[in-house]
Amino acid sequence: MKWESVIGQERACSALRSAIARDRVAHAYLFHGPDGVGKRAAGLAFAQTLLCTGEDAPCGTCNACTKTERLIHPDLHVLIPQPNDAKADEVQERVRRLAEEPYATIDYLRRAKLDEPGSSSSKQIQYSVGRINDELRRIMSFRPVEGRFKIAMLSDADLLRKEAANAFLKLLEEPSARTVFILTTARPDRMLPTILSRCQHLRFDRLPAELISNALVGRDLVAEAAAETIARMADGSFARALDLAASEELMAARGEVLRFLRGSYQTWSAADRMAEQIERISRQGREQVKFILELMLGWIRDLTLVRVMGDGAQIVNTDQAEEIRKFAASLTRADPDLMAQLVEECIGRLERNANARLVLTVLSHSLHDAMRGLPASHLTEPLTDGV
Ligand SMILES: [Zn+2]
Repeated sequence: MKWESVIGQERACSALRSAIARDRVAHAYLFHGPDGVGKRAAGLAFAQTLLCTGEDAPCGTCNACTKTERLIHPDLHVLIPQPNDAKADEVQERVRRLAEEPYATIDYLRRAKLDEPGSSSSKQIQYSVGRINDELRRIMSFRPVEGRFKIAMLSDADLLRKEAANAFLKLLEEPSARTVFILTTARPDRMLPTILSRCQHLRFDRLPAELISNALVGRDLVAEAAAETIARMADGSFARALDLAASEELMAARGEVLRFLRGSYQTWSAADRMAEQIERISRQGREQVKFILELMLGWIRDLTLVRVMGDGAQIVNTDQAEEIRKFAASLTRADPDLMAQLVEECIGRLERNANARLVLTVLSHSLHDAMRGLPASHLTEPLTDGV
């Protein structure tokens, strides 16, 4: 994991690199910030630099660099919280995936089944006290095997609870020379103050959409046009962008958006088809409906841009540019601000648990009016919160 592969986070990365250059490496670090923004990626680049035996570390070619990249260096230990009955080879497989893609979502916490995004489990996921006392204490008590440092990286360190946190605290309090702990967390407020006070803190921020988009294209994952759309939806998390890029749902959802807007424009002649579509979307669950409405907002913004700027517009859904232009040309009397406002209201209603089918039905009617430049529909009135 070279520093160049870490997306953004210049401030944190340069602090780490300068600590190595000045030989002022701390005994323990706390990398805190939102999920998926590169805390673990930076930790791996840091570890590689510490363990590299070549010149101009990390050289990327020495034996140590190669082993670190494959996550098989005997002086680097990557730990994730896990359920009590986790199988050792499955834990290993999850960590191994990080070697291929350090931004990958491999944690039990976010993915109960490794190959099923969004899968969850009711099992308690944490660091057990046994694991800290036996596994971690043992590996950290040996001298470095090959390198100058012994490094342990613990993801989601806020899941060090009670006895496990106290056991870990003891490890922190008896520093053996040349050991480095890297703790990552999105929830430092849930950690023991006594652990927090013994770590050097580095903040990691949400990534700008442009960096996410460039990284997606750089990894050859999606075409540039789709990358921009995904980047905007990823909310600053490259891990989320990776999940979105891999999801067929995204492409399906974008199709729904276009059909919904077209159908709403026609409405009365296409009422049956519209009802069918609303039924189909509603069945996908509240989160997916919200997701589709968020995509719709992006589409409406693009419509506005095309109308105002013509062919020179910098739209997000660039791979659908032709569709958007055609649609914009037919909507001469539409009020895009009102359209966006209507969609935003519906997102708000869904968040307050309104019935998805009802929300979409009302939205379709009121979008119809907004697209045809008619006054706002009275149909929105009965849709008070909680209906
Ligand atoms: Zn090296």
